[in-house]
Amino acid sequence: MDYFQLKDGVLHAEDVALSRIAEEVGTPVYVYSRATLERHARVFRDALSGLHDPHIAFAVKANPNLAVLKVLANEGYGADVVSSGELARALAAGMKPADIVFSGVGKTHSELLHGLEAGIGQFNIESEEEGYELAAIAERHGSRAACALRVNPDVDARTHEKISTGKRENKFGVPLDRAAEIYTRLAQEDGLDMRGVAVHIGSQLSTLEPLETAFEKVGALIAELRDKGCAVTHADLGGGLGVPYKAGEKMPSPEEYGSMVARVTAKWDVRLMFEPGRVIAGNAGVLLTRVIRSKRSGNGPPFVVVDAAMNDLARPAMYGAWHDFDAVAPTGDRMTAHIVGPICETGDTFAMDRECDALVAGDLAVFRTAGAYGATMASSYNSRGFVAEVLVDGDCFAVVADRIAAAAIMDAERVPDWLG
Ligand SMILES: *Cc1c(COP(=O)(O)O)cnc(C)c1O
Repeated sequence: MDYFQLKDGVLHAEDVALSRIAEEVGTPVYVYSRATLERHARVFRDALSGLHDPHIAFAVKANPNLAVLKVLANEGYGADVVSSGELARALAAGMKPADIVFSGVGKTHSELLHGLEAGIGQFNIESEEEGYELAAIAERHGSRAACALRVNPDVDARTHEKISTGKRENKFGVPLDRAAEIYTRLAQEDGLDMRGVAVHIGSQLSTLEPLETAFEKVGALIAELRDKGCAVTHADLGGGLGVPYKAGEKMPSPEEYGSMVARVTAKWDVRLMFEPGRVIAGNAGVLLTRVIRSKRSGNGPPFVVVDAAMNDLARPAMYGAWHDFDAVAPTGDRMTAHIVGPICETGDTFAMDRECDALVAGDLAVFRTAGAYGATMASSYNSRGFVAEVLVDGDCFAVVADRIAAAAIMDAERVPDWLG
């Protein structure tokens, strides 16, 4: 459920008409709803209430905006970060260092050091080599790094191949059949406090079975580790829960996920950790855009050219993803159209042959479910700027990320004298 609804014929974010935001901030612009973020955060937490003291870390990569992180920090969420930049954001948003988990397959020396110096709660180690490097840094630093070993369970998440992370051929984690020996060796390092295992098999999962299969394998690994005399007090189950991108689409609910987790992990005797991203932020944001013009070529449907493009919202071009597309002030008339951006690349297509609200030049429309993996994946391709972001709270709103003009990006470039 979200708070983007029609009121008096105009699409609102909570109590703010999107037409007002377009007038005051311009388009394209990402619009997030605080009430929706809070609702999703609470629904997810409530779904885990049967577990003992679960730790929930929002996957910052889904939406790293500081105001969004602050909303989630206020809800008691920690952060799952995958770079120094994300770590800095989580800290700036007021997340407690102890509630921050550092994931990622290629943490650099300076990123490992940054995490140690910040006193973060846990490193999710993705290889034996990374473990030794972190151990050395921690010893030099006179500290011990709390760690989980990320395992690759070789489970097909049955999602888009580019966001599947738990198959043997994917780059993530250590192979399950080598996990116990690696864990045992790393546990002997003075600089490491090996305390658990971590798993994350992919994103936008539409069924729970792959997760359940992966968790069962993790449960068996925990038993094996304890048999070998290793301590295991934590298990990080990652994120991955899918969200509906099409109105009416069915996805596993947080409640179904929570009860599956409770059932599978009943005898684990660990503190469970979670890293939800998309399920918290996805439906809490839209990308608001204006139609530049409609053009016809041949006999097919018209091309509706909007002012948002693949550089602002990459998912359709990158994953062939679907985003519902609705008019801000629908007339009731419908049309079939190709929805495209202005970028000089055929990949800059949001939808082909889409049945949608009738739109003409100047009309406003939204791409829904753009709150996760939206603004954060933007680029300045075609020398377009970076889109502004707005957070709505009831009947007020604030610009929470300025639009970065193409001219400002150009300002950061230099032509050396020797080019004449
Ligand atoms: C991306 C990612 C997540 C979040 O995935 P969602 O599908 O957005 O919930 C969690 N953990 C790790 C390690 C990730 O890479």
